[in-house]
Amino acid sequence: MTVVYDKVALIGLGLIASSMALAMKRGGLVGQITGYARSRDTRDIARELNLCEVCETADEAVRDADLVVLCVPVGAMAEVMADIGPALKPGATLSDVGSVKKAVIEAVSPFVPDGVHFVPAHPLAGTEHSGPRAGFATLFDNRWCIIVPTPGTDRAAVERLEVLWQGMGANTDEMDADHHDLVLAVTSHTPHLIAYTMVGVADDLRRVTDSEVIKYSAAGFRDFTRIAASDPTMWRDVFLTNKEATLEILGRFTEELFALQRAIRTGDGDHLHAYFTRTRAIRRGIIDAGQDTDAPDFGRTPVKR
Ligand code: NAP
Repeated sequence: MTVVYDKVALIGLGLIASSMALAMKRGGLVGQITGYARSRDTRDIARELNLCEVCETADEAVRDADLVVLCVPVGAMAEVMADIGPALKPGATLSDVGSVKKAVIEAVSPFVPDGVHFVPAHPLAGTEHSGPRAGFATLFDNRWCIIVPTPGTDRAAVERLEVLWQGMGANTDEMDADHHDLVLAVTSHTPHLIAYTMVGVADDLRRVTDSEVIKYSAAGFRDFTRIAASDPTMWRDVFLTNKEATLEILGRFTEELFALQRAIRTGDGDHLHAYFTRTRAIRRGIIDAGQDTDAPDFGRTPVKR
């Protein structure tokens, strides 16, 4: 693999940034990686893990960088950009990994200096863990990274960033910001909200004791709890910034839920059977596309006591 960028700076050193650092090193894709996180604790952990050259200020990290990637929660992007904007090198590419694109573009664009190419991106890969210790080099393998060029974005800058993501193992695709936010509202944001709700409902239902919820969780609930364990700051920001698309999908979800509720009440087994047959086919499609394992129960091995 040839070097795609001489120097990459990662701002924020959590799950996504640390996975990027490890994946870039695995592929020999960059000459130098610098990084910055706001807390001393995170910077110390990143140093201990030898993730990258950890700097004491964001300015220092981005100086002379050919690519700067914002890896902080969506709600923190503007504040971080206001800080580093003046320090960006002319001709550099600025990107981000935020889970929402329209709001990030609106927040970041005013701080992008002339001569810097802003190429927003979103790797569709993650886990419920956060922080620099959560990263691993294979996180992006065979996952999608959506590149969201803004009008007038330099094509060469877009293509170079795509080469980097492909080198990190991802497949790349391009979309406009509105479409990205709608697709993600269906595939990620609303499912997270539903998982948060289901776990919240179980927690509220005092007739079922806490120990029973935990003891019998393998019956479906466990998979909701994994999603509902995701980082609260990141997900608060996702819903506050992808409001329109999430509310649109939630409206549709509620209508379908009422239809299923009615089918249960009226004993309409045909409706339920037809619905579940359709949804089973979607699972098949995800497996055929290589986006999940066909192994029963996601290939988990039973936990030994
Ligand atoms: P994370 O593990 O929680 O790391 C977030 C990093 O951002 C930490 O280094 C944190 O610094 C820093 N940070 C937080 N608030 C900040 C602020 N106000 N100013 C400056 N730095 C701040 O998060 P992550 O999972 O890597 O997510 C990072 C971005 O990737 C988010 O925009 C998220 O939407 C996106 N994303 C996440 C996933 C996922 O599944 N996790 C998937 C795709 C995209 P400290 O540690 O010092 O507080």
